[in-house]
Amino acid sequence: MNEINKILEQNIFRVISDVANKNNTETYVIGGFVRDIFLQRTSKDIDILVIGSGIDFSLKVAKKLGIKKVSTYKNYGTSMFKYKGMDIEFVGARKESYHRESRNPIVENGTLDDDQKRRDFTINAMAFSLNKNNYGELLDPFNGIKDIEDKIIRTPLNPDITFSDDPLRMLRAVRFATQLNFELDKIVFDAISTNKQRINIISKERIIDELNKILLSPYPSVGLSLLEETGLLNEFFPELTKLKGTETINGVSHKDNFYHTLEVVDNLATKTDNLWLLWAGLLHDIGKPRSKRFNKKQGFTFHGHEVIGGRMVTDIFKKFKMPLNEKLSYVKKLVELHLRPIAIVKDVTDSAIRRLLFDAGDDIDDLMSLAESDITSKNEYKVQKFLNNFVIVRQKLIEIEEKDKIRNWQPPITGEEIMQHLNIQPSREVGIIKNNIKDAILDGEIENSKDAAFAFMDKIANKLGLK
Ligand code: ATP
Ligand code: MG
Repeated sequence: MNEINKILEQNIFRVISDVANKNNTETYVIGGFVRDIFLQRTSKDIDILVIGSGIDFSLKVAKKLGIKKVSTYKNYGTSMFKYKGMDIEFVGARKESYHRESRNPIVENGTLDDDQKRRDFTINAMAFSLNKNNYGELLDPFNGIKDIEDKIIRTPLNPDITFSDDPLRMLRAVRFATQLNFELDKIVFDAISTNKQRINIISKERIIDELNKILLSPYPSVGLSLLEETGLLNEFFPELTKLKGTETINGVSHKDNFYHTLEVVDNLATKTDNLWLLWAGLLHDIGKPRSKRFNKKQGFTFHGHEVIGGRMVTDIFKKFKMPLNEKLSYVKKLVELHLRPIAIVKDVTDSAIRRLLFDAGDDIDDLMSLAESDITSKNEYKVQKFLNNFVIVRQKLIEIEEKDKIRNWQPPITGEEIMQHLNIQPSREVGIIKNNIKDAILDGEIENSKDAAFAFMDKIANKLGLK
């Protein structure tokens, strides 16, 4: 028995087939699940296409399987239940037509053929019959199998219509090309370029969903380049495309920060599947265009781009309706601190290491990964030299942390205590004193204890004329 037969012998498909047979209903397994069989990927969801009502049919199947909880979505004519850890989704076959203003189609009941035509890509339009007369037969009207072999993304119909109808499909095309390492068919690429402005009718949440899947792929640069080359990226994320390009003045150039960013994200993708660390990589230089200056002595400079970048991270998260919680703080912090490890390489003192540990806290390892990924010179020797230096920094971080426990350290005196002790109101001075105490301890000037901190506080208060 071959692989496919084995899969279609699973209980769920046999039960669906029996129920369909009894009720004189036609059913198919369709879409991602079928595609993933041929790609030898495992999928978590199974889409069952029913010629007729998907909801009514799903209830019959659930009953037969003894499943109580079925979620139905009347508006979409779909329903689903969980079975052996998989999401089993039922949908009635449909025929769709679209308005220009919306990606929500007018839906009518349709045939298998209508339904396959409304699917986004040829590789997502394949179906296996679950009907008794031709159980297990592959129905592949658009040659999805050939496109899998050729590693190419194509649409069942004219891609101009496919993308204009539902512009989200443009992002899905790029996302599948990235996840599967497929190419976009030339007419698909061109149709994305033509229809790029239509992306503006898609909700931010859906856009980010696809972008996140691109970032979590083995080589995110594949997708990010396609988004840039088709012009789609500039439509929804101009902050990123502004990184593109170089400039030369008096024979001095700077690197193309867009392609540098893609390299950084690819480097990170080999080390992590932490989405937010990948976001930090994507945004680490986002402040560069706004901070770019030129002077004869230094050439191009980007002073303060990490601070500007940190502020832009917040704006970007807001614009895309991304979580404004600890995920935002994390990405912002990494962007703000991304130059610190490289600065330390030049001067690995205990106090610099302690400061870095204090500022990065538990995110120190991620910050080091970002900094290491940020080394993208064409000169292999240079890259290796920096990476070797980072090994020393990492070692030093471990030693100092073991000795001084800075990662989750809090200075021994709070603002409250300062105000009480000096009998002052909340003011700028409280912050200054607090910072001075923290710095003195991190620099090793005073001991890390309450007594030493109080004595030191008195000294500063005197200087500030508070005593
Ligand atoms: P994955 O689950 O890995 O994201 P998938 O192909 O299963 O990939 P789903 O979003 O689960 O994607 O959709 C299931 C199927 O529904 C797809 O294979 C495709 O046939 C169809 N489909 C999904 N979204 C669209 C769309 N925007 N336009 C047309 N068909 C779509
Ligand atoms: Mg799916």
